[in-house]
Amino acid sequence: MHEIGIMESAMTFVLQHATENRARKVSRVVLRIGTLAGVEVESLRFAFDVVSRGTLAENADFEIEIVPASVFCQGCNDEFIQDTAGYIFICPTCGDLCGEIRRGRELELSRIEMN
Ligand SMILES: [Zn+2]
Repeated sequence: MHEIGIMESAMTFVLQHATENRARKVSRVVLRIGTLAGVEVESLRFAFDVVSRGTLAENADFEIEIVPASVFCQGCNDEFIQDTAGYIFICPTCGDLCGEIRRGRELELSRIEMN
Protein backbone atom coordinates (compact mmCIF):
# COMPACT_ATOMS: atom_id res chain seq x y z
CA MET A 1 0.00 0.00 0.00
CA HIS A 2 1.95 3.03 -1.21
CA GLU A 3 -0.52 5.40 0.46
CA ILE A 4 1.41 4.89 3.72
CA GLY A 5 4.60 6.18 2.09
CA ILE A 6 2.75 9.15 0.61
CA MET A 7 1.21 9.97 3.96
CA GLU A 8 4.53 9.60 5.77
CA SER A 9 6.18 12.22 3.59
CA ALA A 10 3.15 14.52 3.85
CA MET A 11 3.17 14.09 7.62
CA THR A 12 6.89 14.87 7.84
CA PHE A 13 6.16 18.20 6.17
CA VAL A 14 3.06 18.88 8.32
CA LEU A 15 4.92 18.23 11.57
CA GLN A 16 7.93 20.26 10.50
CA HIS A 17 5.60 23.12 9.62
CA ALA A 18 3.84 22.76 12.99
CA THR A 19 7.13 22.77 14.91
CA GLU A 20 8.40 25.83 13.06
CA ASN A 21 5.19 27.64 13.98
CA ARG A 22 5.37 26.43 17.59
CA ALA A 23 1.93 24.87 17.24
CA ARG A 24 0.50 22.91 20.11
CA LYS A 25 -1.70 20.89 17.86
CA VAL A 26 -2.50 20.36 14.21
CA SER A 27 -6.27 20.69 13.87
CA ARG A 28 -6.85 20.13 10.19
CA VAL A 29 -5.02 18.73 7.20
CA VAL A 30 -6.42 18.98 3.69
CA LEU A 31 -5.01 16.98 0.83
CA ARG A 32 -5.86 17.60 -2.83
CA ILE A 33 -6.05 14.43 -4.87
CA GLY A 34 -6.67 14.09 -8.58
CA THR A 35 -8.77 11.19 -9.79
CA LEU A 36 -5.74 10.08 -11.86
CA ALA A 37 -3.27 10.26 -8.98
CA GLY A 38 -3.52 6.53 -8.47
CA VAL A 39 -4.28 6.61 -4.77
CA GLU A 40 -7.25 5.29 -2.88
CA VAL A 41 -9.08 7.73 -0.63
CA GLU A 42 -9.95 5.08 1.95
CA SER A 43 -6.33 3.91 2.09
CA LEU A 44 -5.18 7.48 2.58
CA ARG A 45 -7.58 7.94 5.47
CA PHE A 46 -6.28 4.78 7.05
CA ALA A 47 -2.70 5.89 6.44
CA PHE A 48 -3.40 9.26 8.03
CA ASP A 49 -4.67 7.57 11.19
CA VAL A 50 -1.60 5.37 11.34
CA VAL A 51 1.09 7.98 10.70
CA SER A 52 -0.50 10.73 12.83
CA ARG A 53 -0.73 8.54 15.92
CA GLY A 54 1.28 9.93 18.80
CA THR A 55 2.10 13.16 16.92
CA LEU A 56 0.80 16.75 17.05
CA ALA A 57 -1.56 15.80 14.24
CA GLU A 58 -3.27 12.98 16.08
CA ASN A 59 -7.07 13.37 15.85
CA ALA A 60 -6.79 16.26 13.42
CA ASP A 61 -9.57 16.56 10.85
CA PHE A 62 -8.35 14.99 7.68
CA GLU A 63 -10.05 16.15 4.52
CA ILE A 64 -9.57 15.17 0.93
CA GLU A 65 -10.46 17.42 -2.01
CA ILE A 66 -11.02 15.46 -5.17
CA VAL A 67 -9.92 17.05 -8.44
CA PRO A 68 -11.70 15.54 -11.46
CA ALA A 69 -9.60 14.66 -14.48
CA SER A 70 -9.59 17.31 -17.17
CA VAL A 71 -8.30 16.51 -20.64
CA PHE A 72 -7.57 18.81 -23.57
CA CYS A 73 -8.80 17.97 -27.07
CA GLN A 74 -6.65 19.55 -29.80
CA GLY A 75 -9.31 19.07 -32.44
CA CYS A 76 -11.93 20.99 -30.48
CA ASN A 77 -9.43 23.29 -28.78
CA ASP A 78 -11.33 22.65 -25.56
CA GLU A 79 -11.05 20.80 -22.29
CA PHE A 80 -13.43 18.17 -21.09
CA ILE A 81 -13.93 16.57 -17.71
CA GLN A 82 -13.63 12.82 -17.50
CA ASP A 83 -15.56 11.59 -14.52
CA THR A 84 -15.24 7.88 -15.16
CA ALA A 85 -12.20 5.94 -13.99
CA GLY A 86 -9.51 4.82 -16.39
CA TYR A 87 -6.80 6.18 -18.61
CA ILE A 88 -8.46 6.25 -22.01
CA PHE A 89 -9.77 9.70 -22.83
CA ILE A 90 -12.28 10.14 -25.60
CA CYS A 91 -13.54 13.61 -26.41
CA PRO A 92 -17.33 13.73 -25.91
CA THR A 93 -17.66 16.29 -28.72
CA CYS A 94 -15.64 14.82 -31.60
CA GLY A 95 -14.92 11.28 -30.40
CA ASP A 96 -11.14 11.56 -30.81
CA LEU A 97 -8.69 9.97 -28.43
CA CYS A 98 -6.95 12.62 -26.38
CA GLY A 99 -3.88 12.33 -24.23
CA GLU A 100 -3.21 15.80 -22.95
CA ILE A 101 -4.13 15.66 -19.30
CA ARG A 102 -4.52 19.12 -17.82
CA ARG A 103 -5.72 18.22 -14.34
CA GLY A 104 -6.31 15.09 -12.30
CA ARG A 105 -2.81 14.05 -11.24
CA GLU A 106 -2.69 16.29 -8.18
CA LEU A 107 -1.36 14.83 -5.01
CA GLU A 108 -0.59 17.73 -2.74
CA LEU A 109 -1.15 19.26 0.64
CA SER A 110 -3.57 22.10 0.14
CA ARG A 111 -4.04 23.27 3.71
CA ILE A 112 -2.68 22.84 7.23
CA GLU A 113 -4.43 24.38 10.23
CA MET A 114 -2.94 24.41 13.68
CA ASN A 115 -3.33 26.09 17.02
ZN1 LIG B 1 -12.77 16.90 -29.50
